[in-house]
Amino acid sequence: MTFRRFRILILLGLLAAALGLTWLEQTMARGWRAPLVVYVTPINGDGSALANATIHALQAEDFSGINAFIERETTRYGVKLSPAMRVTLKPELKAHPPAPPRDGSVLKTIFWSLKLRWWVYQQSGQLLPQLGTIKLYVLYYAPQDGIALQHSLGLQKGLIGVVHAYADPGQSEQNNIVIAHELLHTLGATDKYDAEGKPVYPQGYADSASPQSVPRTEAEIMAGRYLAVNGRAVMPPSLERCVIGAQTAHEINLDEGFRQQFASGR
Ligand SMILES: [Zn+2]
Repeated sequence: MTFRRFRILILLGLLAAALGLTWLEQTMARGWRAPLVVYVTPINGDGSALANATIHALQAEDFSGINAFIERETTRYGVKLSPAMRVTLKPELKAHPPAPPRDGSVLKTIFWSLKLRWWVYQQSGQLLPQLGTIKLYVLYYAPQDGIALQHSLGLQKGLIGVVHAYADPGQSEQNNIVIAHELLHTLGATDKYDAEGKPVYPQGYADSASPQSVPRTEAEIMAGRYLAVNGRAVMPPSLERCVIGAQTAHEINLDEGFRQQFASGR
């Protein structure tokens, strides 16, 4: 065998291993047989004293509203897991994750997502990748009037979320909505809002059985907002007013919950 062929064989082997690991990881995280394993790593997004104070006051319990939400919603789809997820709060990280390309070019996006996965692997400080673990990096910023945060994101490949959040105790419930949204992206959920940020009917509505024109008070988590009176898009105050809709449930493999329920005769 020539060296060139040998090298191609090695590269193909690495590719197969990467694909296999991605598949294995998705199977583990989306099986709904054990609680989701979630690592939350805080990062000071703007170097502010407020973000610093917020990070130092953080506790794993601050994210318990997300567990309550996932537990409550997955129960509706036949999954019986309590807790539904286990959060480990990791020490603050000084490095920032690579930023996504601004122009949205496909090639740049692919390259960036590989770079992000490599960055996450390097940060873990472990030789083997943390298979099946959802890794969420939460960057905190001091709120500034009129300045919106960058878009948060969640990647299914690699189970990685990068969340931009406000360093403000009054915002922690809404931060949890954003974190839950990105967490569900890592499990395969897609966005259910349109270009204007309004929920798409019916899949982006908490109560999709009622006509679209009826004002709502709850949001579908992947839409993130509901349309209130006068068609105003409103972000709910907390996850208590969010649901996982039927399409999102299907996307994150909650159908498995039904199968398990029948298989075990519960
Ligand atoms: Zn999204």
